[in-house]
Amino acid sequence: MTQRLTVANPELQALIDATPAGMMHWSGTGPVGKVCFGCLNFDQRQLRTKAERDAPEKIRGACDKYLRISSARAGHDVARRIFDPLTPACSHFREPPVQP
Ligand code: SF4
Repeated sequence: MTQRLTVANPELQALIDATPAGMMHWSGTGPVGKVCFGCLNFDQRQLRTKAERDAPEKIRGACDKYLRISSARAGHDVARRIFDPLTPACSHFREPPVQP
């Protein structure tokens, strides 16, 4: 038997496919060229080794804003969802302040 599925909305499906669980909004809807690593909402575990500290952009992490809002909506703490730090940013991207 052959099954054929039609994607009703290809643009929405592309956003769904590109967005890991735990992001605040669709991946790629943030500032051009920005990724979650570098967003003020991106939360990584403590970097333990020199190699990790030298390349923090390789360490997976979670979106703190997603965690806070999802926990508030659920009325209890939800699981922290870890994803690739180089995932294209969403529209909730927050630029860190420029250091003087
Ligand atoms: S860009 Fe920032 S707010 Fe959006 S999912 Fe990534 S860490 Fe969260």
